[in-house]
Amino acid sequence: ARTERMQHPTFYSPTVQRQALAQIRTEAGLHAALALDQFELWFQPKVNLKDRSLTSVEALVRWRLPSGDLVPPNKFIPIAEGNGLITLIDRWVLAKACESMRTWQTQGGPARVAVNISAQHLEQDDFVTTVEQTLSHFSISPAALELELTETALADLNQENIDKLRALRNMGVGIALDDFGTGYCSLSYIHRLPITTLKIDKCFIDNIVTESADAAVTQTIVSLAKNFHLKLVAEGIETEEQCQCLVSLEVETGQGYLFARPMPFAELQQWVGDEFA
Ligand code: C2E
Ligand code: CA
Ligand code: CA
Ligand code: CA
Repeated sequence: ARTERMQHPTFYSPTVQRQALAQIRTEAGLHAALALDQFELWFQPKVNLKDRSLTSVEALVRWRLPSGDLVPPNKFIPIAEGNGLITLIDRWVLAKACESMRTWQTQGGPARVAVNISAQHLEQDDFVTTVEQTLSHFSISPAALELELTETALADLNQENIDKLRALRNMGVGIALDDFGTGYCSLSYIHRLPITTLKIDKCFIDNIVTESADAAVTQTIVSLAKNFHLKLVAEGIETEEQCQCLVSLEVETGQGYLFARPMPFAELQQWVGDEFA
C-alpha cells in the first residue's frame, strides 16, 4: 500500500514522462528498455471477500526510468500495442511472473498468478508454445497460471485464437475475461469462449453502493457467472461499503486498494507474511 502512494509525485512528472514516451515510441527505445531491464513487475493481491484471505495475485508491469521515475502501464502499453512491441513486453511479464512464482512456491507462498495478455500477443502463431515453454522452464503447473484478456480483445476473436485459448484451458490454465461489462455483444459469444473467470470492471464497482443500476448490472453478471459456471472477481474495490455490497450479491473474490495496492515482489512477500503471521 505504501509504495505506490509514495511513488505518486514522481508518477506524474510530466517532463520525464514526455521524454520516456518519446523513447518508447521508437522501436529501438522499447528494445533498450527491455535490454536494460527497465521494466518491473508489481503484484496486486486478489482476496476472498468474506475472510480476506489471499487467493492469487495479478502481475502488473511498470517502467522504471533511469531518473528513478516510474511510468504506469496506461502510459506505454497503448503505444506498445500500436507499434507491435507489446508481445515482447507481455512475454517478459509472463516469464518474470513465473520466475517469481517459482521463488515463492519454494518458500511455501501462494500458488496462483494472473498475467495480462494483449490481443496481439494472442495473435502470434507461437503463443501456445510460448506459454507452455515458459511454464515448463520455471516448473510452474498450468493450473497456477491465469491469463487475463479484455473483453474488447476477445470481441473479434477468430476461431484460430479461440482454439489457442482452448488448448491452454485444456492444459489447466485459467482464462479470465477482464474489464467485463465494458465491451459489446458479450452475451452472444461468451458461451463459445473457453473462459473460467469473469472480472467485473471497476466502473460498476465505483458507484455500486449509491447507484441501483450499477448494483443491478453486477447482480446480472453474478447470475450470468452462475449459469455458465464461471468464477467471478470484482476489481477496484476501495471501500468497506463496496465490499459489503459485493458480499451481499454473493461475489466471492475481489481486488482493490481496500485490500492492497500493486507492490513489488519483495513487498508482496512481506504483505503476505504480515497478513497471515
Ligand atoms: P487492468 O488489467 O484492468 O488492471 C487493473 C488496474 O487497476 C491496475 O492499474 C491496478 O493498479 C488498478 N487498480 C486496482 N485496484 C484499484 C482500486 O481499488 N482503485 C483504483 N483506482 N485502481 C485500482 P495499472 O497497474 O496501472 O494497470 C493498468 C492497465 O494496464 C491494466 O488494467 C492492464 O490493462 C494494463 N497492463 C498492466 N500490465 C500489463 C501487462 O503486463 N501486459 C498488458 N498487455 N497489459 C498490462
Ligand atoms: Ca487485468
Ligand atoms: Ca481489469
Ligand atoms: Ca481496467
